[in-house]
Amino acid sequence: MVPALELLGVSKTFDGFQALTGADFAVLPGEVHALLGENGAGKSTLMNVAAGLYRPDGGRIRVRGAEVEIAGPVAARRLGIGMVHQHYKLVKAFNAVENILLARGGRRYGRGLAEVEAAIRAQGEAVGFSVDLTRPVGSLSVAEQQRIEILKVLVEGARILILDEPTAVLTDREAEGLLATMRALAGKGAAVVLVTHKLGEVMRHADRVTVMRGGRVVGSADPAGLSAASLTEMVVGATTRQERRPGAGAGAPVLDIAGLVGTRADGLRTLNGASLTVRRGEIYGIAGVGGNGQTELAEVLMGVRRPQAGRILLDGDDITAAPPRLRRARGLVAIPADRQTYALAGELSVADNYAVSGIGSGRFGGWLRVDRAAVRAGTLAALAAFDVRGARSPRQKASLLSGGNAQKLVIAREFAQAPRFVVAHSPARGLDVRAALDVHHRLREARDAGAGVLLISEDLDEVMLVADRIGVMSRGAIVGEFTAPADRQAIGAAMVHHA
Ligand code: ADP
Ligand code: MG
Repeated sequence: MVPALELLGVSKTFDGFQALTGADFAVLPGEVHALLGENGAGKSTLMNVAAGLYRPDGGRIRVRGAEVEIAGPVAARRLGIGMVHQHYKLVKAFNAVENILLARGGRRYGRGLAEVEAAIRAQGEAVGFSVDLTRPVGSLSVAEQQRIEILKVLVEGARILILDEPTAVLTDREAEGLLATMRALAGKGAAVVLVTHKLGEVMRHADRVTVMRGGRVVGSADPAGLSAASLTEMVVGATTRQERRPGAGAGAPVLDIAGLVGTRADGLRTLNGASLTVRRGEIYGIAGVGGNGQTELAEVLMGVRRPQAGRILLDGDDITAAPPRLRRARGLVAIPADRQTYALAGELSVADNYAVSGIGSGRFGGWLRVDRAAVRAGTLAALAAFDVRGARSPRQKASLLSGGNAQKLVIAREFAQAPRFVVAHSPARGLDVRAALDVHHRLREARDAGAGVLLISEDLDEVMLVADRIGVMSRGAIVGEFTAPADRQAIGAAMVHHA
């Protein structure tokens, strides 16, 4: 099949800085093609070349097999190339119709408006977008603005659709909706380029992935044939491979749970005799299909839910009925799955979020007189030590941090005092590759310092990558245990056969 768009050996420098070096890229009609790479890899630059925003210093471009010169955005549009940029280019005071007309450079304003509106409505119906065409776009949600941007390029006749990090600004739910729309457009023959730095999106939604690193294309493959670990390695370069840890499973038990039973408010039994032991110096991973009791297990361990039967021993002491505060005092820390709800108070400052659990320790004065200077100094030190970026000051609201930085803040706080036991529930969900690696690195560090770590994740790749021992959870119980390096197929079989 002739590719819809080919970029061959494209190079680009900015003031002597080489942003692209001989980059090759090709997308087929009917395909969702992910362009994956870390921030600064050159993804936007390469796609801006295709969209006519940048003239390349070298290289060739072919559209549907024919070599072309793309002199500017108008030329790109005529070739059927439409790009939705990372930062929207809509005029906030105008409504959707006016914006789209403006982008066209329409002269016959009066008639054009009705025409454009009809075209947008038709296109919106075709792709299943409902957008308000009458309100100023500045008053619409980010997701709605994005839909308008997409409709804009579709109305302009794009057959090669480039979306630059479209899910970065969306909720998980909105992102899934958008990715389904991408798929539908590809189904109608469009060539879709999905620029992203999220591994999960690539694994779930792309037919093909091209990986960039440092301005170069390092490879292109079908993600179905790749493991998350090998894709990660392509993105960030060679990483230290997980070695077999001969000591795993040999340390003293730090957490010992037996026969946990739990029932949800609606009567469903979520924990059904769950038993397992996590030892010092090991990461015990819980693999399983979501909804098999993982959330309830995490909640019971954190102390926010009481089991109906069974017991939990921490270093040999029964903590089954202990409140969260007491568990924390004994060195049990948690990285909950829903960090924005359970781990952080978004309206509070970064500093307050960091200090809240340290106040009881006296590190920041006492409850009656908080030592603000100590809080500030402690927060700044933690932000640096845990590489939390995006906080201009410790006073900034925590809700403004990106997912990866919010998670690093949670970890900085939880790990402020060396933990004895860590329960981490989907700690890397929604994070980019680098942030996920950082999170995993912190878990290994805690383990290497002698803590026991329980990693609960629905992402089997994550469990395989990080855990020293793996327990498969199904219907509220551990139905099989494996020691790393474990056989993925055997784990998968245990997950499915007991379901
Ligand atoms: P990505 O989209 O993969 O995050 P970019 O293509 O935006 O990466 O950037 C690649 C590199 O080129 C970065 O180091 C960036 O700072 C640099 N760069 C991008 N655009 C410009 C520009 N207009 N002027 C100078 N440097 C730029
Ligand atoms: Mg970019």
